[in-house]
Amino acid sequence: MNTTVDYFNVGELFGEEYLLIRDTIRDFVRAEILPTIDQKAQRHEEIPDLMKKLGQIGALGPFVSSAYGGAGLDYMAYGVIMQELEAGDSAIRSAASVQSSLVMYPIYTFGSEEQKNKYLPMLASGDCIGAFGLTEPNHGSDPSNMETRLVKDGEGYRLNGAKTWITNAPICDLAVVWAKDEEGKVRGVIIERTDVGFSTPEIKDKWSLRASRTGELVFDSIYIPSERLLPDVSSMRGPLSCLNSARYGISWGVIGAAIDCYQVALQYASERTQFGKPIAAYQLQQKKLAEMITEITKAQLLSWRLGVLKNENRATPQQISMAKRNNVHMALQVARESRQILGAMGIVGDYPIMRHMMNLESVITYEGTHDVHLLITGQDITGISGF
Ligand SMILES: Cc1cc2nc3c(=O)[nH]c(=O)nc-3n(C[C@H](O)[C@H](O)[C@H](O)COP(=O)(O)OP(=O)(O)OC[C@H]3O[C@@H](n4cnc5c(N)ncnc54)[C@H](O)[C@@H]3O)c2cc1C
Repeated sequence: MNTTVDYFNVGELFGEEYLLIRDTIRDFVRAEILPTIDQKAQRHEEIPDLMKKLGQIGALGPFVSSAYGGAGLDYMAYGVIMQELEAGDSAIRSAASVQSSLVMYPIYTFGSEEQKNKYLPMLASGDCIGAFGLTEPNHGSDPSNMETRLVKDGEGYRLNGAKTWITNAPICDLAVVWAKDEEGKVRGVIIERTDVGFSTPEIKDKWSLRASRTGELVFDSIYIPSERLLPDVSSMRGPLSCLNSARYGISWGVIGAAIDCYQVALQYASERTQFGKPIAAYQLQQKKLAEMITEITKAQLLSWRLGVLKNENRATPQQISMAKRNNVHMALQVARESRQILGAMGIVGDYPIMRHMMNLESVITYEGTHDVHLLITGQDITGISGF
């Protein structure tokens, strides 16, 4: 695994600092993830102590200030980290994405000083595993119609409802959950594992993201002290801004998975001989490889530019949607084509391609489906909602 595929010298657009970060994360993935990831995914097990290991390399909340335990880096660095982690496996990038963009980001952005001091350092170190609850059994693409309710009870609130398809639900120590209050306003609430009435049943037997645990968050009249509400947001802006940060990271991450598939396919095609020649000599296979490197290069340029805009606080949600949609689709296509180049060998765990391909089937659905992101672009350019 080597993510230096860089046909247009995009790396020259980065400073040395980013290349150092890239190499550090790449070394981590080689040493800690690659030796066991196939076995873990096949057995539907997670990497032991993954979150703590990610904390040790500064991959959790890299954009959070060092005053709260973060690495104090910018969004370009966050993107580079996501790319290298997903070259290992989308489950690893998903763990870092959720913890960073969906749990630390809302506490950092909308939380009180007490909440930031209490939760961010232990989330940054990975001593505490966070989950993000937005999707519900009846509301996936339309979370604004959520049914989870927060009702005033004395000095605090009662929370009732359920979230589903939640990354790390079965192993989370806390969850940032979005619910509607009695005025219909969307509020962010911090739930702790020990809260009475909180349970997290697991969704088993997934064919995708098998090295990541997924489950439900069930709230059976949980009492929430008022200091557990995020004070600085009371609308869909809260969860949507978290998704923006995560989707941005995904646009980078999937480039790592695509490069890993492309490199394996290129090498295999050069070594595998059929009809007396390496299969890389045949135009049909060259077309596949040439189109892959073209699409990877376009995705790299898109994400690099998006990183510049994000650092300048100018990246719009619509631009992020376009990059997420384009790059995930690109990675999935690269994985599918790469798998074919390997013939029968493409379906075994000796090679990472099938694992990446199955993982990307989740990535193209979560954080806004492929269709929904197209509708976001459509609405932006026409001014008409196609939802
Ligand atoms: C492995 C995994 C991990 C996840 N982790 C999390 C997490 O940590 N936290 C969290 O909150 N959620 C999480 N999700 C949930 C994910 O965000 C949702 O699955 C996603 O938003 C889609 O919702 P849905 O599955 O209910 O599909 P639906 O919304 O039911 O959509 C089904 C299909 O209908 C299409 N569709 C929907 N509306 C329209 C429309 N208006 N026009 C045209 N087509 C439409 C969609 O594009 C899709 O193809 C995760 C999902 C997976 C698979």
